[in-house]
Amino acid sequence: MNNADLVLNFLNSHQDYKYCDDCLTTNSGVHPHQQINQICRIRLSQEIIREQDQCSICGRFKIVNQSIVGVVV
Ligand SMILES: [Zn+2]
Repeated sequence: MNNADLVLNFLNSHQDYKYCDDCLTTNSGVHPHQQINQICRIRLSQEIIREQDQCSICGRFKIVNQSIVGVVV
């Protein structure tokens, strides 16, 4: 499993949560931090939602990543 799969799997299994890049790095176990940013911005641009919101973990308002699976349109 590559890092993009790891991140996607992690977000899909935590659908109700929004993770900033920092918390996603810490919780998914993917390193380095720079790679998370790249994965979420480019590799997973169709699979996840990336927007300005409150991180479910650290509570800060910044760019957060969320699984698209958990979002009801
Ligand atoms: Zn956070």
